Amino acid sequence: MNTKNSEALFERAKKVAPGGVHSPVRGFRGVGGTPVFIDSAKGSRLKDVDGNEYIDFCMSWGPLLFGHQDPEIGEAVKTALTRGWSYGAAERYSLEFAEDLIQAVPSLEQIRFVNSGTEAVMSALRVARGFTRRDMVLKFDGCYHGHVDSLLVRAGSGLAEMASPDSAGVSAKTASETLVCPLDDEAALEAMFTAHGKDIACAIIEPLPANNGLLLQRDAFLQKLAALCKQHGALLIFDEVISGFRVALGGMAEITKIKPDLVTYGKIIGGGFPVGAYGGRKELMSQVAPAGPVYQAGTLSANPVAMSAGHAMLKKIIRENPYAALEKTNQWFGGEMAKLAEALPFKSHIQSFGSIFWMVCNTQETIRRIEQIPAAQKPLYAKMFHGFLDQGVYFAPSGYEVGFLSTAHTRNDLERVLEAAKKVFQEMGKH
Ligand SMILES: *Cc1c(COP(=O)(O)O)cnc(C)c1O
Repeated sequence: MNTKNSEALFERAKKVAPGGVHSPVRGFRGVGGTPVFIDSAKGSRLKDVDGNEYIDFCMSWGPLLFGHQDPEIGEAVKTALTRGWSYGAAERYSLEFAEDLIQAVPSLEQIRFVNSGTEAVMSALRVARGFTRRDMVLKFDGCYHGHVDSLLVRAGSGLAEMASPDSAGVSAKTASETLVCPLDDEAALEAMFTAHGKDIACAIIEPLPANNGLLLQRDAFLQKLAALCKQHGALLIFDEVISGFRVALGGMAEITKIKPDLVTYGKIIGGGFPVGAYGGRKELMSQVAPAGPVYQAGTLSANPVAMSAGHAMLKKIIRENPYAALEKTNQWFGGEMAKLAEALPFKSHIQSFGSIFWMVCNTQETIRRIEQIPAAQKPLYAKMFHGFLDQGVYFAPSGYEVGFLSTAHTRNDLERVLEAAKKVFQEMGKH
């Protein structure tokens, strides 16, 4: 495969941006090699600057439920553009979108649009602290909530529950306002709430953790978390930036029947445009400025072009209800991949949920916590990734990231991927 142009662009990019990219995983550090530079995309396909085509399972990290350049979303965006693209004033695009979202998702009574998932999370934490007048936030090891300082932390080594910074530039003081619990462990949760319950403003969790592989949680664990929050007067925030509109219209809240106090959204809610949102009970959302004392603002928030894209996406989801068909396809695809993977010289399996999948190397154990991920995941996945890339299949460039199916992936696409898998796995089996 010729990647000359990508290589040249990467050399230039490294001069003007840290690591040559504007978000870390794009830099291929997790798999090695030179990132392919994308020139265009349509449906299930990416095309790079050397003219190579790939069947894409990254799908912009989840937003593209209907594939690249969905025509309905494209039309909505083009129409919006003819009217102007930013007003900095009240407009009807966000109103109409908000009305339909609130009607679609039972736990939403009010919503505020922002520009990214990170902003949504940051703002939801502020609402929780403002409302409860408590300072501590509980998060779970293995969940990602964007690059909010107080959540870029991991479990500390000394005092079990005290968090330590997980990035340079996050102060120990900021980290000290975050508590960290393991996933999948009711006893640890119980102990945490017994020790700190009265200080916890909120617990935030990805109800379907999908940023360190796909860490499938037992229903009993999520139910226990909801019960403990209620018992101790802490708010429960579901971070549904990935799972929202991906696994069901009402996200994991609908599937688990748990009613979170606040929900954060990103990714799909913008249909591929930069949109985030947070929302929940009116009692909580009425704390937000200008209605209440919790300040939060955004110059480009509720951008009419992005609102039109998100709204078109929502309308299409409601009309087509794609979830059952996507899940069925994902189950079939995962099953076929697992059969072919028997040719590999190590154990492996696929964990999946809805239209999300994750290829796990070197174990057949169900992974629910980050420390269960085998150390060999990174090098083995990297090999697999490059094998597939050479065959024209683009999986996420990191063994800790999941894959996404879209409605644009045809049976024919998936059969081509299975053909590629046969070759890649057999080749890896020889070494
Ligand atoms: C992607 C993600 C975020 C951050 O969203 P950005 O738009 O990248 O800021 C937050 N939470 C979860 C669960 C995510 O997957």
